[in-house]
Amino acid sequence: MDSILKFEHLAQNATLEPAEETSFKPAPQLPPCGINFEDQSPHPSQKSNLQRDLGVHHAKMPGGKTIPLLKTMLTSACERNCYYCPFRAGRSGRRVTFKPEELAKSFMDLYRAGVVEGLFLSSGIIKGSVATQERLNITAEILRKKHKFSGYMHLKVMPGAEKDQLRQAMRFANRLSVNLEAPNDKRLAQLAPKKVFLEELVRPLQMIEEIRQNEPGHLGWNGRWPSTTTQFVVGAVGETDLELLSTSEYLYKQVRIARAYYSSFRPVADTPLEHLPPSNRLREHRLYQTSFLFRDYGFDLEDLPFTQEGNLPLEIDPKLAWAQSHLQDNPVELNRAERLELLRVPGIGPLGADSILTARRLGTLRDVDDLRYIGVQTKRLKPFVLLDGKRPTYQLSLW
Ligand code: SF4
Repeated sequence: MDSILKFEHLAQNATLEPAEETSFKPAPQLPPCGINFEDQSPHPSQKSNLQRDLGVHHAKMPGGKTIPLLKTMLTSACERNCYYCPFRAGRSGRRVTFKPEELAKSFMDLYRAGVVEGLFLSSGIIKGSVATQERLNITAEILRKKHKFSGYMHLKVMPGAEKDQLRQAMRFANRLSVNLEAPNDKRLAQLAPKKVFLEELVRPLQMIEEIRQNEPGHLGWNGRWPSTTTQFVVGAVGETDLELLSTSEYLYKQVRIARAYYSSFRPVADTPLEHLPPSNRLREHRLYQTSFLFRDYGFDLEDLPFTQEGNLPLEIDPKLAWAQSHLQDNPVELNRAERLELLRVPGIGPLGADSILTARRLGTLRDVDDLRYIGVQTKRLKPFVLLDGKRPTYQLSLW
């Protein structure tokens, strides 16, 4: 099978998680195109058609730039049997495998043709995690050293990868990820019985953080160590939001992951979980909102309005719920509040808080027009703030 067909096959079958801020933009429906990269660059419409067929995601990088990111795998064969995964051992279906050199060259062909600008590389596990991680690292090294690829590269870390392998991957990748899949060992046993929660999944994230803390950053790719992320499968095995967010809080605060991804469970035919219903996407949204409250807003787990069952209410934004019970009767004076207090107010994010702090050095904020003038959204904050001692006027919501 040629490399493009392999990439297409993987794109059709892969359910690789979101790993950057991805917004998949489906290309217009066009007839299939045959492109020889050696003698021409694809026409723009052919390019977008090919991007669609290859499953290229338009991913927002840290820093804001959006690039076409090829999300693919070294192999779709796997010796493990995770219950949710289309690549699990024993499931019928064609498997495709790249050699490291072949994948690196094929990626570079697409890169030089302008079809992709970055790579997200994962793999099924064959001959153990250590051997699989070795092949991932070799691919990354070939891309960086032989092909001089200097663009964005996200490498998946295999469960149980060794510390030296992590150090090696950190020399080539912009980002590394280890998917926990579940918030603890009990839930993981119901999802992926051959993975070991602490030793194989949490420990690599801890080791990466140890390296970042103790070894000089100039050894990393482009002079800095990569960021880390993880993913959870949400809604398949009865885990609560409290379980997911307790583990997320640990990961954000203790091993400094850049982001936890929450992927709503979707049943895959011919897997042990095929009979389960898909989980609610609104739950995924509330988990993201809450995890950002940990990461960017100084919230702790105990601030959150969990139900008795340990879940977040779906019908209300968690920050708004907190503000309704804490700020309605104790509004925040925007002319005096500390940055962390400002961040507790619905509608004020890190940028808005910084704008308010800057504006206060120049004078007093007296009404919502002053806030609008400095770029702060005012619709949601009015019930929770004072401006120079006065509450802004607002209309009570009828619903
Ligand atoms: S280790 Fe599990 S999740 Fe990863 S490819 Fe294999 S079966 Fe799928």
